[in-house]
Amino acid sequence: VAGIESVRVAQTSTRTERRSIAVASGKGGVGKSTVSANLAVALAARGRRTGLIDADIYGPSQPRLLGVEGIKPEARDKKLVPVATAFGVPLLSVGQLVAPEKALAWRGPMATNALGQLVDGDWGDADTLIVDMPPGTGDVQLTMLQKHRPAGAIIVSTPQDLAWIDARRAIDLFAQMQVPIIGLVENMAGYACPACGEISDPFGNGGAAAAAEALDIPLLARIPLAIGIRTASDAGAPPAAGNGAEAAAFLDLAAQVEA
Ligand code: ADP
Repeated sequence: VAGIESVRVAQTSTRTERRSIAVASGKGGVGKSTVSANLAVALAARGRRTGLIDADIYGPSQPRLLGVEGIKPEARDKKLVPVATAFGVPLLSVGQLVAPEKALAWRGPMATNALGQLVDGDWGDADTLIVDMPPGTGDVQLTMLQKHRPAGAIIVSTPQDLAWIDARRAIDLFAQMQVPIIGLVENMAGYACPACGEISDPFGNGGAAAAAEALDIPLLARIPLAIGIRTASDAGAPPAAGNGAEAAAFLDLAAQVEA
């Protein structure tokens, strides 16, 4: 019995040393996956042992964003071994378990079972897991919050009012489950014209700051709408790993999340 007790204690202590951070959004297409990937890469660049979980069953895009598309994780002792990437961030994605178009048709239990396999993967000495959640407030989110208890959540939205109304629902869900909101990230905030440098606001301006103030939640970052973010992401080279202005924005976000 003494032996069993000590094993239990050891397992508990490894668990508490690792914290997961859920990256959520009220709806799809706001850049939640882009922010998750670049936040993970920036945390790793700052020396955090960071892993990335892609739980977005509706559009698992992390294998593409981190340049490991088509690579399947192996299993060791019945646990999935995260796929190594060129950016120091090991990855487990629902897109590695099944063809992405099939995951979409999963019912609740299958999706939540897949989430469990990703969270319980062989994460080695990772101290931080960034979890790219599906958009909205469905079964996978509830299971993540109730069963896997992230240490905190980051909410991503675009500046439009509508996107913030959707984000509000995600925020309410975290509050109900007593998962602290670390802060908001406003993505696609301002567009710098590559020809003339003029900054314009295709999705509006000031919405995030107002929402953050009204909800009493920190506004962690405003990431601009930049062609470079899209092209680098599509090429499997997260801009956070580069040395442009976008990298600085994501490193700054990582510093705030660490604080
Ligand atoms: P979500 O995970 O919320 O569905 P994605 O991260 O997949 O959104 O982003 C949707 C699309 O928008 C992708 O093509 C991505 O490259 C692009 N994108 C995201 N953020 C930016 C940005 N700040 N600037 C330019 N393109 C972006």
